[in-house]
Amino acid sequence: MAFIRKSTKPKLPDSFSQGEDLSVDERLTVTQLLDLAKRNGVETSPLDVKALLLVLGIGLISIPMRDEISGMLTRADNGKDWVVKVNALHHPNRQRFTIAHEIAHFSRHRFQQAEFEDLNFFRNGESNPMEAEANRFASELLMPESIFRDKVRVFSGSIEEVALYFRVSTLAVRVRAKNLGMKGHGLE
Ligand SMILES: [Zn+2]
Repeated sequence: MAFIRKSTKPKLPDSFSQGEDLSVDERLTVTQLLDLAKRNGVETSPLDVKALLLVLGIGLISIPMRDEISGMLTRADNGKDWVVKVNALHHPNRQRFTIAHEIAHFSRHRFQQAEFEDLNFFRNGESNPMEAEANRFASELLMPESIFRDKVRVFSGSIEEVALYFRVSTLAVRVRAKNLGMKGHGLE
């Protein structure tokens, strides 16, 4: 299934590699992605996931899919570039999480597989270490810890308002708060 050859490695845009120490083989961290976004004028709070895709040279196709499919990361028709497909029928906030999750696969796992298809995240993703990592990564990318803690304080722990700010589901906020060990206010 995995067929990674030198000639098919993703070509990252110039803005990505110029003056960077990153090789295209390197796995990207959340911090590196957010730095990259800032350097390219991409809004990071809340993160403009579509603009970040552009910076990374990843295509985006929004199409209706069966309800249980959130989206996927696959190779483009040219066999070189990467494309994120997202279920256009899902709520926009859910699509944001899906895109962030696929960015996670691109950043961490693209050397291991040529295709990633994702079903409903919080239900079945955790049993697979790669999926668990992608969910955690997406969560950190959309809700960086310091900003998240700040917004929880600003909104007095209201899950709904925090979710509204980050444009994610209330479930995503609950999971993020739990992973940060936050309790009290509405976050229990
Ligand atoms: Zn996945």
